[in-house]
Amino acid sequence: MVVFCFLVDQTKKVRSYKPWAGSCSRCGGGASVADMKTATRFCFVPFYWKNWRAIVCTFCGATLKSYR
Ligand SMILES: [Zn+2]
Repeated sequence: MVVFCFLVDQTKKVRSYKPWAGSCSRCGGGASVADMKTATRFCFVPFYWKNWRAIVCTFCGATLKSYR
């Protein structure tokens, strides 16, 4: 089996959700403040990651606002 070692991918994880006083502009559903962690991996080895925060809709999944 050939292993491709040029693989760069990103994994996005939500670490926590907090309720946010507002609603989604797309579907009108409830929105939350999410603490995200994005890891960039090269050959499945994480070499760069950052924490950021975004306001996301828990109903349709739209990102309404992001803080970096
Ligand atoms: Zn929505």
